[in-house]
Amino acid sequence: MKIPFVDLHAQYLSIKEEVDNAIADTIRETAFIGGGRIKQFEEAFAAYLGVKHVVACANGTDSLEMLMQAMGIGKGDEVIIPALSWISTGEIVGTAGATPVFVDIEEEFFTLDPDLIEAAITPRTKAIIPVHLYGQAANMPAIMAIAKKHGLKVIEDCAQSHGAMIDGQMTGTFGDAASYSFYPGKNLGAYGDAGCVATNDTVLADMVRMIANHGQKGKHNHQMEGRNSRLDGLQAAILSAKLPHLGKWTQARIENAKAYDGLLSRTGVACPQVRPNSRHVFHLYVVRSNDRAALQKMLTEQGIETSVHYPTAMPFMPCYAHFGHTEADFPVAAEYQHKILSLPMYPELTREQMKAVSAAIEKRDLQSIFS
Ligand SMILES: *Cc1c(COP(=O)(O)O)cnc(C)c1O
Repeated sequence: MKIPFVDLHAQYLSIKEEVDNAIADTIRETAFIGGGRIKQFEEAFAAYLGVKHVVACANGTDSLEMLMQAMGIGKGDEVIIPALSWISTGEIVGTAGATPVFVDIEEEFFTLDPDLIEAAITPRTKAIIPVHLYGQAANMPAIMAIAKKHGLKVIEDCAQSHGAMIDGQMTGTFGDAASYSFYPGKNLGAYGDAGCVATNDTVLADMVRMIANHGQKGKHNHQMEGRNSRLDGLQAAILSAKLPHLGKWTQARIENAKAYDGLLSRTGVACPQVRPNSRHVFHLYVVRSNDRAALQKMLTEQGIETSVHYPTAMPFMPCYAHFGHTEADFPVAAEYQHKILSLPMYPELTREQMKAVSAAIEKRDLQSIFS
């Protein structure tokens, strides 16, 4: 059975008419840049999150990077980030001129370990960027308490956590601001690049909006050097068409994760755990195997696509070699980078497909016993 890692076409077919109409309407209106389509999506997503402001932008890396600039974080500053994330989380600290300071992840939940944060704080520390990795909420109550104690800003990287919650509160509403990506494969995805900043801080929202539009405050009034990070109208229209379905899709991901948990309990892989009192939205379903390379190869041979998020934890990447970190500095991330394997996960995934995945893993278990 051929099982793709993600199936964006299946989702498109399920909402084809709504999406096609949104695209056709936007083209008819020639609302390509700016205008009502952007505002409509910003308001709808702000209402979904329960925040005052959403500022749409070109992608989820820009939204993080613009927050660095808007908060005045740069040369000489340090920003605490988890050792395991997509490179954007580290990259934007460096491109802002600041220094990323890595902190290891929690063994059970893959997110920034609050118990290790204080040891990483120095007089130069300006902010913490927790990442709700794989759709699992980071321990925001603990992280916010530390940030408050030390007067640090908190930017939540919500690129993988649309709709995730902890203690009944949406991720993205704990910190000073949140960054979202709507890359096509994310839980809410556009049909190209897209992202946004979400915040309750009006001054910060205005600043990000200005940076995203060449530092303009009104036409030709350039208050500062900004950039072009506009979201285009077509992407906004597509996102508005898709947003009403996000709740149902999230529920389907959660149910699929439960089904996987049951099916895989008989196998040798370790299933992901969900933080108590939280809603994990399973952007990714990440298992751990002592035998990852062989398992992945065998699944590939059977037509089952998998992926690794991420094969190298950030401190060990060539671009951060100058820090001279060793595996002993981040034992959990160092161990997990060799064990983690992301299985196919999306709302449209069927029980038959999940059964085929678990059967293939069981078969591999047997092979490794007898080999
Ligand atoms: C996808 C992602 C980003 C970046 O989003 P883009 O829209 O691709 O720029 C940032 N952080 C994390 C954790 C991500 O998964």
